[in-house]
Amino acid sequence: MQRTLSSETLSQVGKTVKLAGWIQTRRDHGKIIFFDLRDSGGILQLVCTPQEKEVYELAQTLRSEWVVEVEGEVKERPDAMKNAELATGNVEVGVKKLVVLSEAKTPPFPIDTPGYDIDEETRLKYRYLDLRRPRLQKNLKLRSEYVKAVREYLFSKGFLEIETPLLTKSTPEGSRDFVVPSRAQPGKFYALPQSPQQYKQLLMVAGFEKYFQIARALRDEDPRADRGFEHSQVDLEMSFVGMEDVMNVVEEMTVFAVEKIGGNIAKKPFPVFTYEEAMKQFGADKFDLRTEQEKKEGILSFAWVVSFPFFEKDKTGKWTFTHNPFSAPLNEEHEAMLLKGKDIEKIITSQYDLVCNGLEVAGGSLRTHKPNVLRAVFKTMGYKEQEIEEQFGHMLEAFSHGAPPHGGCAQGFERLLMAFLGEEYLREVQAFPQTGQGRTSVMDAPSELSEAQLKELHLKVQNPSTKLRAGK
Ligand code: ASP
Repeated sequence: MQRTLSSETLSQVGKTVKLAGWIQTRRDHGKIIFFDLRDSGGILQLVCTPQEKEVYELAQTLRSEWVVEVEGEVKERPDAMKNAELATGNVEVGVKKLVVLSEAKTPPFPIDTPGYDIDEETRLKYRYLDLRRPRLQKNLKLRSEYVKAVREYLFSKGFLEIETPLLTKSTPEGSRDFVVPSRAQPGKFYALPQSPQQYKQLLMVAGFEKYFQIARALRDEDPRADRGFEHSQVDLEMSFVGMEDVMNVVEEMTVFAVEKIGGNIAKKPFPVFTYEEAMKQFGADKFDLRTEQEKKEGILSFAWVVSFPFFEKDKTGKWTFTHNPFSAPLNEEHEAMLLKGKDIEKIITSQYDLVCNGLEVAGGSLRTHKPNVLRAVFKTMGYKEQEIEEQFGHMLEAFSHGAPPHGGCAQGFERLLMAFLGEEYLREVQAFPQTGQGRTSVMDAPSELSEAQLKELHLKVQNPSTKLRAGK
């Protein structure tokens, strides 16, 4: 017999079905034992009576979170017993056959509550149990639906989904790299991508005019509520476009996908602020436009911010980029300033950021596709000719083989989902996030390597925080 999902039983009254799932709760009512069975379709009431002696005896041993398979007849509940709060509340299954597929320890914390009160370390240590709670089941389901809608929209506009490497070279995105030592080339390292920035630009040079990817970005920054070591982006890039073209695609995609998952958007089209206006009006380039009423109603309020300064001074007084070194200056006038190295603080970039309910949820720009302009950006930042060649020679070379004008954007859709779901932390919309201390869920990395592994990687640990792992 094929397995039926709990949600499918409503249309199967009078039929015998096979179900499988977890025991959610058990209620002993004298001679009758009731169970709530949980599966990916929802929750369903099971009934065990002494008439089915073997089943009844086994049922007495069942505990919460055991995994069982049952067969039985779907019955309409008597009117007085119907439960309007349960989607399957009009029916129940009289169990005729019961098999225990897996027993379960008592969970270390309740999983039928929202779980906000439980210590983060414990939640993430047992993340697979934490994820069983309805709130996280819902969050991850919505996340999947959002990504599905994004794909649907982008495919409908002729985008190709293309993956880019995880083992790559350090690329400046304003953060610290995670690095991977090379075994075959002593003393050399790969870097995990802070974003697919350079590869997606190379795809434009390669002639894929509309690219996207649901990409992982890895940045070694101190975690905070809306930032982790890893985050996912809808990363896209287009050729032969202006700022409006990219902004329109991102805006349309966002509206389409947000509305597809049931979100309400305050204003369409999204209002646009210059950086200067935003700073004057809100004192920040991330701001929340919602009224108190809109906050209560869970409305999403988007706005674009444009016309950012290209450069700012870093702590040491050197010029550095504010957003993205691969961006193009706003127009020819600003490009000329950059090439001349004059009025650096006045150069405006073609960057556009999207904010939603006070969070930055997307950012992108038109790119420099002219080698001399890209060179000028790095020169402004104090790079020597040789450093530019070593670090970005591949881009300069690529741009000398016929590079189309291009631009793109990356949407940190997890933050957008946080805003939509009213969640305060990124980890509430990720399956296996890191803890605030940077330890991974369940598997508890980072961890030590064995002597042999270190040797193979040509590494020596100078001040190990814990003892090296013994063995292989
Ligand atoms: N690479 C940028 C980022 O990850 C986004 C972009 O400009 O496309 O923030």
